[in-house]
Amino acid sequence: MTRVFNFSAGPAVLPETVLRKAAEEMLDWHGSGMSVMEMSHRGKEFIAIHAEAEALLRELLAIPPNYKVLFMQGGAIGENAIVPMNLLRGKASIDFIDTGEWSKKSIKEARKYAAVNVAASAAATGYDRVPARSEWQLDANAAYVHLCSNETIGGVEYHFTPDVGAVPLVADMSSDILSRPVDIAKYGLIYAGAQKNIGPAGLTIVIVRDDLLGQALPVTPSAFDYQTVADNDSMYNTPPTYAIYIAGLVFQWIKAQGGLAAMAERNRAKATLLYEHLDASRFFTSPVQRDCRSLMNVPFKLRDEALDAAFLKGAEARGLLQLKGHRSVGGMRASIYNAMPIEGVQALVAYLKEFEAANA
Ligand SMILES: *Cc1c(COP(=O)(O)O)cnc(C)c1O
Repeated sequence: MTRVFNFSAGPAVLPETVLRKAAEEMLDWHGSGMSVMEMSHRGKEFIAIHAEAEALLRELLAIPPNYKVLFMQGGAIGENAIVPMNLLRGKASIDFIDTGEWSKKSIKEARKYAAVNVAASAAATGYDRVPARSEWQLDANAAYVHLCSNETIGGVEYHFTPDVGAVPLVADMSSDILSRPVDIAKYGLIYAGAQKNIGPAGLTIVIVRDDLLGQALPVTPSAFDYQTVADNDSMYNTPPTYAIYIAGLVFQWIKAQGGLAAMAERNRAKATLLYEHLDASRFFTSPVQRDCRSLMNVPFKLRDEALDAAFLKGAEARGLLQLKGHRSVGGMRASIYNAMPIEGVQALVAYLKEFEAANA
């Protein structure tokens, strides 16, 4: 068996120890004689798995008691509709910060439910940055302020938590949740699809402050009404049980690594290694402004696009996979989530050097 270095943006690399544990427990979870996939979500075994996953997530992120943790389905794209349905609370409009492809998707979906005020946008500079807080034109009557903390495609990440006053702050954290500590109390709601930094696709995590529940639009599907989901401990409908189990194993792994402070340190070391090489090279370029660069998704370009195909072919031959950039921006992208070991980034940098030497 050969494991590659998988730089996919998502679904993405998982810790090898988690996959091994899941394999060991596949046919018989803890003497139950069943796979987790076969268990009733109302049985005592799965209820224990679910409760442990939630408790670990609360511990890792230091989630205050007045926040609910919801295990949902529909992905972050689903939440782009579910959030406005639940959080409009009689208000007419929503403030958005537009930092790239994922913000644009959120904005487009929200327009079905409310007026949208784009309070700040990085479109004019080709989405190479997060607009400074001083540029934001916020509306004090907005239902909430929405941002995407890490633009997975453009590689732009917030390195500050904005103060938006009394209006709830909502963040799509799909691709940087659990990569660093977060002050949850500064947010009204956080959502994230699991398949970047948490576990398998199919699970969506929502962390929401209590006082924002219970005011969903009447048309909201029951399975997507946060109050209903919370009242039923995320079991109003059958939850994605196996994905929750794997997420729980990932949470255990993060805790064993030293928690989010340790994750943040490792992630910084990995990203620094890669960005320092890109900046030093005359062959590769990084399109994002330095103070907004993502520690999770590192887009880069070859100065000579004609070499892109040869670059990718050589990478693949060395077990460095999924480096092709998103079709909307081209070039390359290395996603280096929590589960990417530093050895993967070292191997990538060694290949960048080798390719440059052979082609410069
Ligand atoms: C991947 C991603 C999404 C899309 O998630 P789905 O699970 O496909 O709905 C949305 N936002 C961000 C920031 C992402 O990285």
